[in-house]
Amino acid sequence: MNPKTYDLIAIGAGSGGLAAAETAARLGKRVALIETGRIGGTCVNNGCVPKKVMWYAANLAQAVDDAGDFGIPAQRGPTDWNRLTRGRGDYISDITGYWSTYVDDLGIDYIQGHARLTGSNSVEVNGIDYQAKHIVLATGGHPVVPPVPGADLGITSDGFFNLDHQPGKVAIIGGGYIGVELAGVLQALGTSVSLIALEERVLERFDPLVSQVLMQEMIRQGIDLHMNFQVAALAETSTGINVQSVSGQCLEGYDMVVWAVGRAPNTRYLNLEAAGVHFLPNGIVPTDEYQDTNVPGIHAIGDITGRSPLTPVAIAAGRKLAQRLFGDQPTARVDYDNIPSVVFAHPPVATMGLTEAEARERHGKTSIYQTKFTPMRHALSGHGMTTAMKLVCAGEDEKVVGIHLVGDNVDEMLQGFAVAVTMGATKADFDNTMAIHPVSSEELVTMKTAEPEPLANRDSGIDWREAG
Ligand SMILES: Cc1cc2nc3c(=O)[nH]c(=O)nc-3n(C[C@H](O)[C@H](O)[C@H](O)COP(=O)(O)OP(=O)(O)OC[C@H]3O[C@@H](n4cnc5c(N)ncnc54)[C@H](O)[C@@H]3O)c2cc1C
Repeated sequence: MNPKTYDLIAIGAGSGGLAAAETAARLGKRVALIETGRIGGTCVNNGCVPKKVMWYAANLAQAVDDAGDFGIPAQRGPTDWNRLTRGRGDYISDITGYWSTYVDDLGIDYIQGHARLTGSNSVEVNGIDYQAKHIVLATGGHPVVPPVPGADLGITSDGFFNLDHQPGKVAIIGGGYIGVELAGVLQALGTSVSLIALEERVLERFDPLVSQVLMQEMIRQGIDLHMNFQVAALAETSTGINVQSVSGQCLEGYDMVVWAVGRAPNTRYLNLEAAGVHFLPNGIVPTDEYQDTNVPGIHAIGDITGRSPLTPVAIAAGRKLAQRLFGDQPTARVDYDNIPSVVFAHPPVATMGLTEAEARERHGKTSIYQTKFTPMRHALSGHGMTTAMKLVCAGEDEKVVGIHLVGDNVDEMLQGFAVAVTMGATKADFDNTMAIHPVSSEELVTMKTAEPEPLANRDSGIDWREAG
């Protein structure tokens, strides 16, 4: 029997694969979508969505703690973990249910199973061959566990979303966005959290202002930070799991250890060699700006490409690719500059564009506007949680090339400003925008004094070691 033939086969029904399949199907193409796990992929099942539910729960817990300062009597008991995770699971089921029906309604063939390439136009799933003129690799990634003794004693973010009880004392290893997000959630919900990281500061690739303020806040909330700590081993003892460093330090007695040290692309079992698709030793499949791999007809989108591993980026890449291949838009592609993103820490971080150091290197003449203040909500709550904001501007016309925010509600602030920056707004455009009062975001259109001297010559005035 001849293999079934499609215009497009998408491997992976996560953010990118679903977007490519949906767009192609809407353009009247025959599409197959192959998924080995659950429809929706990482974002819906093990990432953004369950994480954000937990973040909301943690925000509410913090609000209950602050309520008394506003004259509202409220007292927190232990978190009902079962109720929380059941509600989260139901919400996710609604989303995956929606997608299953939608994919079906679009006439997409949904194939449950693990896909392997067998050639440049062919794929095999459960022993059955399929062919397509175009194949899009959208297999995402998985959490990395480093090969240290006792590593298996730790879980990953995937395991975190399967926990059937709230742990009492947790070590989270990793100072990237997943590490700080899980640390903030667990600490706010009443777990005692240590955050252990190799680097000098959390969110090391972000502008130093936001990581420094976030570290101050994490310490204030009671998170036990261990920076410059390289984990050598985990060991099980009668009092819990110990975390040992290469320099001989030992942190003792954890109920649970969570690895949050990065993610690697799901390429290992794709049989890329059969089609001659080039991939890097770390599993990344490089593409050109149009998401094309080195093999004509094979494309890659989302986390597997190693570029900006974020849901909206994977979705945009999937849509643009399908529009280019099937929609009479031969130049459609994603612009990977100016991608806004949020870290759902406590407080959140929102950032886009260049850090101060990157702007100085790329543009030379750079002016920096920054502010640090206690928002009204926290002035009254008495513990003074800080908000900090930085605008990075380049050139004589002070084009805004970077925005870095940390503090309450910045997660909802950045999207609108991202439109302005994408359109090429200058500092003068920000200044000419009427402020809204009293909100924290008005600070972004009322900053007065530029700080022209380089970062190295300036004391940021923030030392996280002094906090607590
Ligand atoms: C804890 C966590 C929190 C996150 N929070 C955010 C956030 O707040 N905002 C944000 O923008 N991003 C967030 N992300 C990142 C986001 O989830 C990813 O960038 C996004 O899901 C990538 O989409 P994708 O299509 O590349 O891959 P995925 O969504 O991972 O989908 C890939 C799919 O391919 C399937 N697959 C793999 N191999 C095969 C195979 N051989 N055959 C068939 N199917 C296969 C997998 O089962 C998976 O379902 C988070 C990630 C994590 C882990």
